[in-house]
Amino acid sequence: MEIINRITYKPSPVNGGYTDTILNVDLSEGAISPVGLPPQFKDTYVGGRGYALKLIWDGTTAETRYDSPENILVMAGGPLCSEPWFPGSGKFIIGTISPLTDTFIDSNIGGHFAPLLKLCGFDALAVTGIADRDVVLIVDADAGVIELAEAPSFGEEIDEGALTYGDALIKEVNNGLLDENVAATTTGIGAVNTRFGIVNSLFYDRRRERLRAKQAGRGGTGTVMRRKGLRGVVVRANAARLKANQPVNEKGVKAAGAGLKQVISKVDPKQLRLGAWGTTGLVEYMDKFHILPVENYQYGQDERAKKVFGDIFEKRYFGHQFPDGCYTGCNLACAKGAEDVLLEHGPWAGKRVGIDGPEYETAGAVTAMGIFDPQFVMEFNWYCDQYGLDTISMGVTAAFLMECFQRGYLTTEDVGYPLDWGNVESVDRLLQETARGEGFGKICGQGVLRSKDWVAKRYAAGTGKNKAAVLDELNKFAMEVKGLEFSMYGTKESLAQQGGYGFALKGPQHDEAWLIFIDQVYKELPTFEDKAKALKWFPLIRTWFNAVGLCKLPWIDVRHPEAAETDNPAQNRPTLAYYVDYINATTGSDKNLQDILDDSERLYLLQKMINLRHGKGTRESDRIPLRAMGPAFINEYESRSEHYEQWLNDHSGGKAIPPDPADRLELLIQLRQEAYERLCDAVYSEKGFRPDGVPLPETLERTGLLDKQAADLLSRYDIVDERRKLSN
Ligand code: SF4
Repeated sequence: MEIINRITYKPSPVNGGYTDTILNVDLSEGAISPVGLPPQFKDTYVGGRGYALKLIWDGTTAETRYDSPENILVMAGGPLCSEPWFPGSGKFIIGTISPLTDTFIDSNIGGHFAPLLKLCGFDALAVTGIADRDVVLIVDADAGVIELAEAPSFGEEIDEGALTYGDALIKEVNNGLLDENVAATTTGIGAVNTRFGIVNSLFYDRRRERLRAKQAGRGGTGTVMRRKGLRGVVVRANAARLKANQPVNEKGVKAAGAGLKQVISKVDPKQLRLGAWGTTGLVEYMDKFHILPVENYQYGQDERAKKVFGDIFEKRYFGHQFPDGCYTGCNLACAKGAEDVLLEHGPWAGKRVGIDGPEYETAGAVTAMGIFDPQFVMEFNWYCDQYGLDTISMGVTAAFLMECFQRGYLTTEDVGYPLDWGNVESVDRLLQETARGEGFGKICGQGVLRSKDWVAKRYAAGTGKNKAAVLDELNKFAMEVKGLEFSMYGTKESLAQQGGYGFALKGPQHDEAWLIFIDQVYKELPTFEDKAKALKWFPLIRTWFNAVGLCKLPWIDVRHPEAAETDNPAQNRPTLAYYVDYINATTGSDKNLQDILDDSERLYLLQKMINLRHGKGTRESDRIPLRAMGPAFINEYESRSEHYEQWLNDHSGGKAIPPDPADRLELLIQLRQEAYERLCDAVYSEKGFRPDGVPLPETLERTGLLDKQAADLLSRYDIVDERRKLSN
């Protein structure tokens, strides 16, 4: 490899979960700079998402776009990342300005990368600039060397894939070997050609004797990585993992971890069976409750769905039943995978590959295209990982275009082939074209927001119709908010989850608030106030997980038996007690749960301010498509007419229910839209925002965020006048 820059360094030691050092890399200058952080930085911004938010708040402006040189690509774990004594501690986030949303995005990802980065002496990697050729970064704690090198080429077929390139790159750096002390982040050709490129986190699994991959899927982080010219980052450190995080109170960490591990091993086999099925088990639950996003979320249930239930994947693919933790010590072990799967589609047809996944989201993305074939789910999963594509955005954009085809906005002539539901050959072709930026794939690769505009323009030109009127129609079923495609939950019957998606700062991804079951199935949020409280509390606790470097699943998907006896079982506070003990034992702090929520609120509001700065922070940006609120068209209404008639009887407040189904649908839409607006009012009030969704100055002041930049930003929204009005 041709070395562009090389520095020697001494890795900063880990102390209480932190190294207090970040690694800055400026690709325009070829500069590599380890930088120490003042102690108050971690006290204020915690880690992970908090570090990414602060670096981006300070280092970018309202004009910064995903491809601006000053945009920052941050990879950061957190103080609780890298601890084998506690389950779920291999998580880190990748944060940046997104090519889909034009504001802050982050996506969390598992594997060994962040623990090894910490052992290399860094709490975070922050990459700016754009290289004049493709490069790789190698951080080697053992040699005390950091190198920026020209990206080696291993031949076209290997180079275009994130998985194959990562495998070859690690071997190149590590004397031809794969081992647990080396990990990498890479992405593939799909990230070059689309706005929804992912970053893969690659780590060696000695049981499966191959590299495994986890993905930072949402928002186009991989697209930013490739735009910067960064092909891969390799980290290497041989230090012992059991002592890696250097907690202040090792006994306390072990006790907290043992307590949680015991709950997991007792409870998971009786609840979601994540250890056996991974998250594919969720397909059955979602189908049962009309939540599965069938044919672009038109329907929530389909009798063919049983072909992609968890037990099918378990029997046909997962077979080996390895304990599949994505980091050492996670006994929930949901990161399922399969070996020697014979591919039947695409350019790799006839080859056998190991596949990591599928997650529920990937299975849901395939049902969104009307396909119920487990083999195709596996292949869609593998090709998306290999090319570096987000399975969710790929599936939802394809599903949107397929519905355009169904409703006559697109024709075979426009696309080049028919895009009818369930057509595996067409979907496979679209996937291949999208990854390579060819044919109609160039449109698909732009995501729903931008492809919607293309379809409206073309259809309006061809029919002489008004483009704005066409867009109004497309907006009913274009499943995006803020530019990000919905994740795979139909929200028609859960007002709380409509808010969970609409208010999510990054766009409609369920990692901020996943309330659909407690609202729709368990009916634990009956009033607007209950929903508003949940829509404040859950995003805060979930933000904390993304800041400290932990996986949420052991908390949210394994309900502690004692939670049922608490006031709010969904919060699972008996399990959260382990987490509070864990952070205090690691860092030496003396926090309670409220302190943790307060820390999170500061980060949440900082993200909100970045959204405001980038034009995505007001009530207007929280609006959701009609399809997310209820049936958008009569075919959906009629597929569950009895259910909707009952709903109208229960919610029309004495208004007469019209006899014609089309009129009933209209009334239902009106009531659902009114309910969403009421929810906005309740949630903004709960969060300390004005009715237009802008935070009140006192809300920022309370969390120490009202600096000059924030005050200037608020003044652009006339917040000063509003404040005066409030004080009068
Ligand atoms: S619960 Fe699953 S995703 Fe989370 S850390 Fe464990 S194996 Fe990884």
